[in-house]
Amino acid sequence: MHYLITGGAGFIGSHLAEGLLARGDAVTVLDDLSTGAIRNIRHLKGQPGFSYVVGTVENIPLLAELVDNADKVFHLAAAVGVRLIVESPVRTIETNVKTTEHVLAAACKKKKKVFVASTSEVYGKSVAVPFREDGDLVLGATSRGRWSYACSKAIDEFLAIAYWRERHCPTVIGRCFNTVGPRQTGHYGMVVPRFVKQALRDEPLTVYGDGRQTRCFTHVSDAVRAMIGLMDSDHTVGEVYNLGSERETTILALAERIKELTESKSPITFTPYTEAYGDNFEDMPRRVPSLDKIRAAISWEPRIELDDTLQAVIDYERALEPQPA
Ligand code: UDP
Repeated sequence: MHYLITGGAGFIGSHLAEGLLARGDAVTVLDDLSTGAIRNIRHLKGQPGFSYVVGTVENIPLLAELVDNADKVFHLAAAVGVRLIVESPVRTIETNVKTTEHVLAAACKKKKKVFVASTSEVYGKSVAVPFREDGDLVLGATSRGRWSYACSKAIDEFLAIAYWRERHCPTVIGRCFNTVGPRQTGHYGMVVPRFVKQALRDEPLTVYGDGRQTRCFTHVSDAVRAMIGLMDSDHTVGEVYNLGSERETTILALAERIKELTESKSPITFTPYTEAYGDNFEDMPRRVPSLDKIRAAISWEPRIELDDTLQAVIDYERALEPQPA
């Protein structure tokens, strides 16, 4: 099989490319390097079946050609990261909606199956934990920029489902819950690479709010295995699946664990959300997936424990730190 991965030079996309190549598939990456980077895929250059194009999904003729050459499409190109969303809402909304429109339109012409990467963020402020795919999405006011991300990805989901129901273009949607691992950047807010970098430098670990908010962190290789499984199965078309770990941890406990694993001298500090993200910010207290649906569909289970996930990020970030002379 030949796969096109939009956003394939990003954190998750580069691991997905690796996973597909490892099982003998061919992969073409399309990435505009806005948040992705060539260094994420440099090690794949020269591998049989791998190619990449630096370009944007908004280049319709280019996209059409790449879709034509592929058997299936993983659509991961998106603007992600809470900091990016809060600071650049126009870019977030436009990128996320337009790219998905373009990819689905191009794929539909040839009825190529598309995996659309969505996010647990779409559950918004829902308190119906664990979140089920058929549960309500509870978003905040439009004056609070954070929700524009959830809303833009919810539109992507509606569109993907509509393309299947109305135009018979096969699509499947994965809602990723806090995927972490090597190559994730902390520039756009993601907590694990940020805490690990801070810990390795003995700088304060900046917990936002009181640190009692929880998340479930998923190792990227578990996430990639789920994405490939959902794409391989014929029974997943037109459906939405949660894809994450059920192990819930508070952000304060996460900071403490990273401090222990790195043997860091960093203090743990508490930063009010207003200072971190401005006045109009809302966080969600808990975010836990129900995995019933994905288990039933493809017998998928997350395999990697939180400590091993954190250790993988620590090893990666440690290798990037300047070594003492
Ligand atoms: N967070 C934090 N310190 C940081 C970055 C993030 O305490 O330096 C918190 C953030 O407020 C949220 C959680 O960590 O409650 C996860 O944040 P992230 O941006 O990684 O993902 P989210 O789940 O919010 O999309």
